[in-house]
Amino acid sequence: MAISMTYKVAVVGAGFGGIGMGVGLRRAGITDFVIFERDGDVGGVWRDNTYPGCSCDVPSHLYSFSFAPYRSRRIRYPRQAEILEYLRRVAADHGLVPHLRLGTAIREASYLETEGGWELTTSDGRRVVAEVVIFAVGQLHRPSIPDLAGRADFAGPSFHSARWDHDQDLHGRDVAVIGTGSSAAQMLPTLATKARRVRVFQRTPHWVLPKPPADFGPLARTALRLPGAHHLYRRVLYYGSDAVLAPIMRRGWSARPAEWAARRYLHNRIADPRLRAKLTPDYPIGGKRIIFDSHYYSALARENVELITDPIARITRDGVRTADGAHHAADVIIYATGFRAPEFLVPITVRGRGGVLLHDQWRSGATALLGMAVPGYPNAFLIAGPNSFNPAGSNPGMKECQVDYIVRCLHWRDRIGASAIEVRETAMREHQQWLEQAVTKTVWPAMGPNCWYKHDSGRVTNPWPASARAFDRALRRPPSESFRAVPPDPANPTDPAASEPAAGIHSE
Ligand code: NAP
Repeated sequence: MAISMTYKVAVVGAGFGGIGMGVGLRRAGITDFVIFERDGDVGGVWRDNTYPGCSCDVPSHLYSFSFAPYRSRRIRYPRQAEILEYLRRVAADHGLVPHLRLGTAIREASYLETEGGWELTTSDGRRVVAEVVIFAVGQLHRPSIPDLAGRADFAGPSFHSARWDHDQDLHGRDVAVIGTGSSAAQMLPTLATKARRVRVFQRTPHWVLPKPPADFGPLARTALRLPGAHHLYRRVLYYGSDAVLAPIMRRGWSARPAEWAARRYLHNRIADPRLRAKLTPDYPIGGKRIIFDSHYYSALARENVELITDPIARITRDGVRTADGAHHAADVIIYATGFRAPEFLVPITVRGRGGVLLHDQWRSGATALLGMAVPGYPNAFLIAGPNSFNPAGSNPGMKECQVDYIVRCLHWRDRIGASAIEVRETAMREHQQWLEQAVTKTVWPAMGPNCWYKHDSGRVTNPWPASARAFDRALRRPPSESFRAVPPDPANPTDPAASEPAAGIHSE
């Protein structure tokens, strides 16, 4: 018996990707869709991360959707609360509220061979059927807490940076911060003014570059009054980050000016040569996400802040013991230890054609055409999937490119009268070959295992290895070049595009 579709499209996740997708669908005239969100609010990482000092190191004019541009003459870099408010407003202004199913996590997604659609199972066992499923769960949503010896023995409060315990008053307490990535760097200046003592445990130093003040000065505010100034500023930021920041990840001379600037900055900010040596990375700039922050080094140089670089041996009842035998007292431990970024779509079980498990296919690292679609999984799309994180620019912008492409795929599917479309093997292979070649030109393959850009297998699975413009260009190509129609029923094959050869989708 045929199963009737509940929805045309089911979107999973209501962060930047899911909200952008919802708006894209509505703007395309598709209103029969639902957005599932495991939490009780929209916002994704900007809802989850509420640590003190949480903000975005990408300017708000760029870190926003083109269809809902930031028009602030005050804010240059948005704080967490402002971004969360922005996403709530976009959802409300674009009529997404009736489509939201908050507090509904998706546990399983299975392709329905006969109907060419997807059956989704929620964590409380309900079933929903949709023609198309779009996973927009992001890359940085599952906290990673290292399994350090003795972790359970700690008697005081401990929590991850993305699960901040606001009931804990840190005034006058000894705080241990494990990790020195962007989250730790952003929280440290506030923690240092509250806590009695902050001990920062660093395994690997990050490269740090300063950034301008969070708010615009009087001159910029006046300039932003001019007609077209906001739009022009966004364009300058877009092309500027492509021209200045994207080359930093490449091997060779193109990163040297940035590395020189980072060394100068460290030299100017940290007077103590021993501390400076501890903070100097031994890998090329761009190997890990650069920290853009102007207050981290000065916070580290405070009297009540200590940087500890001896490896952690174990957590004790009342602190952290390092491999040199020293014990560092702590009332509270904060794990600023990042996310399980290479584990795409976990914990959702995804079954494609023939019941094949997506995570079996991804055992040695996730792959997807432009971070967006996988052969064998018809009518399924990802936003911010493998190798589509932009370490040098705006991720909302990358997601918007994927949203536009997915909408065009849906229109193409309707136009050719197919119930399901999927990426051709040839297009996927060609993309993967290009990607692997592009990755060899970056500094990432030489990085060790402690880098969230890489899967345990050593494969670079998370960042996009070229410019934002190259991503945009690749996603402007017609879907017919990379997708094919899947016959819904063997007795009625409709595969008008199946015989077309895959064309080159990358022009860089
Ligand atoms: P992260 O960059 O992955 O940093 C995690 C830190 O924890 C690293 O210093 C890491 O050391 C350390 N760590 C992990 N396991 C450890 C262990 N077993 N022992 C000791 N140290 C350990 O995480 P994050 O700071 O939360 O940032 C994650 C990403 O979120 C960033 O890269 C960025 O893309 C994004 N973010 C963006 C902003 C923004 O303003 N746009 C702000 C915050 C975060 P190793 O380096 O040695 O692994």
